[in-house]
Amino acid sequence: MISYDFSGKTVVVTGSARGIGRRCAEKFLEAGANVALCGHSPRDIDALLAELEPFTNGEHERVMYETCDVASVESIDAFLTAVVARFGALDVLVNNAGIWEATPVGEVSEEMWQRNIDTNLKSQLFACDWFARYHKENGGGQSIVNISSVSSILTGQNTPLYNLCKAGTNSLTRTYAHGLGELGINVNAVAPGSIATDINKATYSDPAAEAAMRDALVMGRRGVTDDIANAVLFLASEESNYITGQVLFVDGGWTLQQAPKK
Ligand code: NAD
Repeated sequence: MISYDFSGKTVVVTGSARGIGRRCAEKFLEAGANVALCGHSPRDIDALLAELEPFTNGEHERVMYETCDVASVESIDAFLTAVVARFGALDVLVNNAGIWEATPVGEVSEEMWQRNIDTNLKSQLFACDWFARYHKENGGGQSIVNISSVSSILTGQNTPLYNLCKAGTNSLTRTYAHGLGELGINVNAVAPGSIATDINKATYSDPAAEAAMRDALVMGRRGVTDDIANAVLFLASEESNYITGQVLFVDGGWTLQQAPKK
């Protein structure tokens, strides 16, 4: 097992109440970081600290939780400002929060557009921009890792808006990598394939759908949150500081295949 040392570093993981974001937060805590978690609902901090106890070594002061709606620029600004006020720094930003909803080709509404763009793309761009502004003024900073998706390069007919947002993630990753390189900050994306979380629980509650996906994957299994968190920690660590502007597909070989017609 690779172990990273994030002692003394402050890491923000958006959308970290559950799923991939939560696993990333746990692993950063295990690696010694101060971790700021957020979600759009308030949390009982004592209950959260108890859940995170196995990862904090009892150092509760390394955990912060704030309510933040990433679809709101004001809310992102307030969250990131609060992180710096609490920990005195912001070294790593993981833009993870996101939604997936069916918006089939031929059925897209303006309301769907707004919700998807705001939550999946605007959120990441404005968090990156806050991070860029802050570090241009104050120095410091280590890495940004944006969570993309295989959908950024595939053409699923059920999700044109999600596909578009995640393609936008790849683009903003490259642009901010270019912009922040002179500060020594690397910016990369991780593009998960099919990872078992709440975001796709309904889709794969049908065992036939689960089996079809598993069988279609080169590696013969759907992914787990650890698969993604391992890639995120690597790209956030100093071990990867000469890698920038890249999108790392962690998809069990999904994108090695032709996209099906439907
Ligand atoms: P999830 O639904 O378990 O977690 C998403 C998290 O984002 C939740 O904690 C949710 O509360 C939070 N969130 C959603 N909207 C928010 C908002 N407006 N403000 C603050 N928080 C908000 O799903 P997940 O699978 O863990 O997804 C994490 C990321 O991974 C997303 O960006 C998703 O698009 C991406 N992804 C997931 C998969 C997969 O198969 N699970 C595949 C590709 C990409």
